[in-house]
Formats: sequence, C-alpha cells, structure tokens
Amino acid sequence: MPCPALEIPMTAVQSFDVAILGAGLAGRLAAWHLVRSGARVALVERGGPDGTGSAAHVAAAMLAPLAESAIAERRIVDLGIASVDLWRAWLAELPEPVFFQEDGTLVVWHARDRGEMSLFASRVRAVAPPELVAQRMRTLDGAGVAELEPALAGRFPQGLFLAGEGQLDNRGVLRALLSCAVSEGVHCVWEAGEVDADALPSLGICARVVLDCRGLGARAAWPAQPGQAGPGAMPGLRGLRGEVVRVHAPDVKLRRPVRMLHPRYPIYIAPKPNDLYVIGATELESEDDSPMSVRSALELLSAAHSLHPAFGEARVLELNVQRRPTRPDHLPAIRVDQAARTVRVNGLYRHGFLIAPAVTEAACAVVRALLNDDPAAHAVPAAVRWPGMIEAVTETPVSAGADGAGLLH
Ligand SMILES: Cc1cc2nc3c(=O)[nH]c(=O)nc-3n(C[C@H](O)[C@H](O)[C@H](O)COP(=O)(O)OP(=O)(O)OC[C@H]3O[C@@H](n4cnc5c(N)ncnc54)[C@H](O)[C@@H]3O)c2cc1C
Repeated sequence: MPCPALEIPMTAVQSFDVAILGAGLAGRLAAWHLVRSGARVALVERGGPDGTGSAAHVAAAMLAPLAESAIAERRIVDLGIASVDLWRAWLAELPEPVFFQEDGTLVVWHARDRGEMSLFASRVRAVAPPELVAQRMRTLDGAGVAELEPALAGRFPQGLFLAGEGQLDNRGVLRALLSCAVSEGVHCVWEAGEVDADALPSLGICARVVLDCRGLGARAAWPAQPGQAGPGAMPGLRGLRGEVVRVHAPDVKLRRPVRMLHPRYPIYIAPKPNDLYVIGATELESEDDSPMSVRSALELLSAAHSLHPAFGEARVLELNVQRRPTRPDHLPAIRVDQAARTVRVNGLYRHGFLIAPAVTEAACAVVRALLNDDPAAHAVPAAVRWPGMIEAVTETPVSAGADGAGLLH
C-alpha cells in the first residue's frame, strides 16, 4: 500500500485498515469489534492502558433507559434498550468475566420530596415507550421497598421500581475489552500525547480509515454548526463536569442502583463488587476539571448518608472528576468524512455506557463500508435505524486508489 511522503524511515511504518484515536469507552469497544471482524487495527491513546484520562474510568456505568428517560430524549431510550441487549451478548463473549446485572433500579425519596416523584414518573411516561413503562415501572409501598432492598427496610414508605435496568463494572469492562482486543491482534500505542489523524505517520501508523473516539479531546474536530457560531454560541462539543465519590461500605448491602429524588441534590448510588459504591453525580455546566469541590463532596455524601446512615462509616476511596463529552442537542453523533476517510463518534454525554454498544456498532458499520470503498458509507442500514445520528460531512466521495487502498493518513 503506497504511503504519502513521510519524514520517518518507511521501515518504521506499519499499515493498518483502521487507526482508532482514543482508548476510552467508544475506542475500546470499536477496537474489539473491528478486530474480530478481521480488520487490522491500531489503537492510539494519549494516556496509559488504565484509562484514567477517560470519562469512562469514573462513570457509574448504570444502564438505565427508563430512569434516564426522565431527563433524556426518546432516542436515548431506544439506543439504550438496543445497547443493553448488545452488552448482554458481548460480555458473554469476553473471556474475562465482567460484573453485569439487570436487577433494575429502585427510586426513593424522602416524604417532603414527594412532588419530585410525580415529576419523575410523569416525565418517564411522556418519553419512554408506553409498553415498556407498563411492563417495567411499578410503584412500591414500604414493604415492597424492603423486599427489594432489605437494607432500606423501614426507611422509605414508598418507592418506584424500574425492572430490568442494568449496570456493569466500568473499569472491569475497559480492562476486559482491551485485553481481548490485544490478544486478537490490536496494535496499541500508549502515551502518544494529544494526537490527531495528522500525527499518525509520525507514530509509524499508516491507516486506510481513521476512527476518532477521543471524546472531549476531539473538540477541535466538532466546531459549532454554521449559523450557530459566534460569541456566546454553544460550542459543537463541550464538557459537562461530573463528580462522583467511590466508597467502601461493607455495612450497607444494597443489591442494585438506587436513585434518590431531591429538588437540589438528586443522587444515585451504584453498588459495585466487593462492597464498593459509586455515589454520583453532579452535572455542572463547566469545563473545569480541577478536583472535586467541598460543596459537591458534602452534597453527595450527605445525600448518601440520608439514604442509609451506615454510609457514615464508609471509607472514601476516591473523589473523581471528569467532563462528559456533550453536543448541543445532548445526542450522540457519527460524522463521516468520505474524502478524508475519517469517521468521528462523539456526544455520548451522560449516557455513554447506556448507548455505546449501539452507537459504536453503527460507527463500525460505517468504517467497514469505507474499507469496502462504498461511496455512500454514511448510508449504512444503521443510518435508517437511527435517523439523524450518522451524517456525511463531505458531499463528494473520493474514489479509492487503483489498488483499492484508498487515501492514507
Ligand atoms: C461522573 C460521570 C458519571 C457517568 N456515569 C454514567 C453512567 O452511569 N451511565 C452511562 O451510561 N454513562 C455515564 N457516564 C458517561 C460516560 O462515561 C461517557 O459518556 C463515556 O465515557 C464517553 O465515552 P468516549 O469514549 O466518547 O469518551 P471517553 O471515555 O472520555 O474516552 C476518550 C478517550 O480518548 C482519549 N483522548 C482524548 N484526547 C486524545 C488525543 N488527542 N489523543 C489520543 N487520545 C485522546 C482520552 O484519554 C480517553 O481515553 C458518566 C460520565 C461521568 C463523567
């Protein structure tokens, strides 16, 4: 395959079908997916294999399409339902076990916040598919709360149960996807710094297609849309600050994620293996990625303590901050630049774990169409299934070279 003139010795350059930028959630899922379909894949990450620079590393990783429908659009609910099915199938194919459960979400509130419950339930009914609401949303009395979560017996006279909702171990799945991708032959470049597609040759990588999964690191590639630019305009991609606390609380014993409604400090508590709990999350319109504020720590921890006093004896393991990669419409998008042979996935916002399987599956279908020199790679079947999610950013496709290799990056 011919490579463009490079300033590095050609012997140092390796050829790949796909170079993936960013080894966070979308990047690892895509690497695993593509290598198993026979593609030669390079994965390039600014940080190390532990994923600490990604939003995915701190996420609670709840897979809660119904609970999220209280604040999200129907598109997210539908992508979420499709993705939970994909997670179930894909996790079963990973050689390393990953903690995953579908035991539902319990929603509770203190008596004075009863109004929040009506608001929550009416939003869920307005957004989620009616048959799903009918099947999965159930009101509980105090005995029902206690039956589901004995640790909360006597503490909440009412609750809502959202059956079938899931969660997984975010760090476990990042680890398992990477180790499986590497064992299938994915070539990883760690500590690459802040790279973009133009930097690949200097890393010794020559690829037929670039898949950009850099999350917020891809901000420059997502400018404001025409007509939305200018001072005070919403950027094409922005970070929303989120803070979570990880605690070790062996005295609490919750079985499933619990959401506590509150007018100012709604929280969730997601139990992970080994008596770990993720308590979150703030959502602040801020690009600040400095450490957690005292106010946020107080609010999250007091809310957890008010859910169950045994959190008072929990040990704080981590106070984490990350920014969620967010588009103006809060929906995910896949942009296909046929001429540059680049596919960009972004805008997973607060729903990355919930929707990433369906979104990355669609992005990988576009990548495969580009590898096959399909002149309408943006029009794969997923574009019909998820209208508006996949968009072409160049009008005129560039045909592949005579050897079918296409353009190189
Ligand atoms: C506090 C918090 C709680 C959350 N809880 C949930 C939840 O319960 N459920 C849910 O579904 N979602 C949740 N999310 C959202 C989820 O974590 C994100 O949507 C998801 O991680 C985004 O995936 P991504 O791959 O696009 O970005 P990331 O996971 O951030 O990965 C991007 C990767 O690209 C790398 N990178 C960036 N720039 C460059 C560059 N120039 N060169 C090379 N590499 C680069 C980064 O280091 C990183 O590894 C939460 C997020 C936060 C912050």
